[in-house]
Amino acid sequence: MNHLVQGGDVSAYLGKKFVSSLSRAVRLKSLLFLELFGGCGRVAASAQAMGYAALSLDINASPLENHLSPVFLNKILGWISSGAIAGVWLGTPCSTWTRALRVPLRTEQHPDGRPDLSPDQFRKLDIGNKSFLFSLHVIRACLRHGIGAMIENPQTSLMWSSPHFHKLLNLKSSTSVVSHMCQFGAPWRKATRVQAWGVGELWELAKKCGGPRGFCSRTLRPHLELTGRAPGGKHWTSIAAAYPDAFARAAAAILVRTCENKRSLALSRRMGG
Ligand SMILES: [Zn+2]
Repeated sequence: MNHLVQGGDVSAYLGKKFVSSLSRAVRLKSLLFLELFGGCGRVAASAQAMGYAALSLDINASPLENHLSPVFLNKILGWISSGAIAGVWLGTPCSTWTRALRVPLRTEQHPDGRPDLSPDQFRKLDIGNKSFLFSLHVIRACLRHGIGAMIENPQTSLMWSSPHFHKLLNLKSSTSVVSHMCQFGAPWRKATRVQAWGVGELWELAKKCGGPRGFCSRTLRPHLELTGRAPGGKHWTSIAAAYPDAFARAAAAILVRTCENKRSLALSRRMGG
C-alpha cells in the first residue's frame, strides 16, 4: 500500500475519472457502468464500445484505485446512492479463495481463513477478506438502490461458502450461472460462477463445455491446463485472469439490458402504461 496516497487525492482523482467517463458516452449520458477489481477492464471496454459510459478501476492501474481504502469505498457508495451508477461488475480477486493453493489459506470448515496461518499467510488472507467485504458493501448498496450487480469467482472458490455471503446468495433477487471460458474463446476451460442481483436473464453467460475428459467441445482439442508458467514467465493463472472478449461482451450486454429495461419500465409507469 502506498502511504503517500491521501484521501483527498483519491476523491479528486475518482471525481475526474467519473466526469471524463461520462463525457464520452453516447447513450444514457448521465449514467455510468462500473467494473471494480477491473484488471484490464474488458467489461467496461465492452460497455463503452456499445456507447455507454463505463469505468474500470483496479489498483494495478493506480495506487489511487486501491479498493481497500475507506475513501475509495465511500466514493463508490456515494456514486451508487446518488443514482449515478447504471450497473456494477465485480471481479473480486480469487487468489486467497482458491482450493488450488499449495498451502490453502481457507478450508470448507474455515472459509474465512484457517486459524493456524503464519503472519505472512495471514496478511495475504486479510487482503482477500477485505476485498470480499468491500464487494459485499457494494452489492448491498446496489440492492438498496435497485442497481444490477454481478460478481464472479471460480466455480470452486471458497468465497461461495463464506457465511457472510449466505444471506445475499439466498435472496430472491439473486441468480447465478456457470460459464466455461473455453466456450468464449479461451484455450482453458476455467469454470467460473457469476452471481447477480436485480439482473434479468443470464443466458449470454450460460455456456458450458460438453467435451469428454479434458477435450474441448468447441475446438475438439485438449484444454490448456492452468498450471506453471507461460513461455514469457508469467503464471498461466494470472494470464487467465483476463476475461475472453466474448465473455466480457456478454457480461456488459446483461448489465446494459438490465438498466435499459428498468428505465423503459419506469418511463412506461410514468406515462401511465
Ligand atoms: Zn472446452
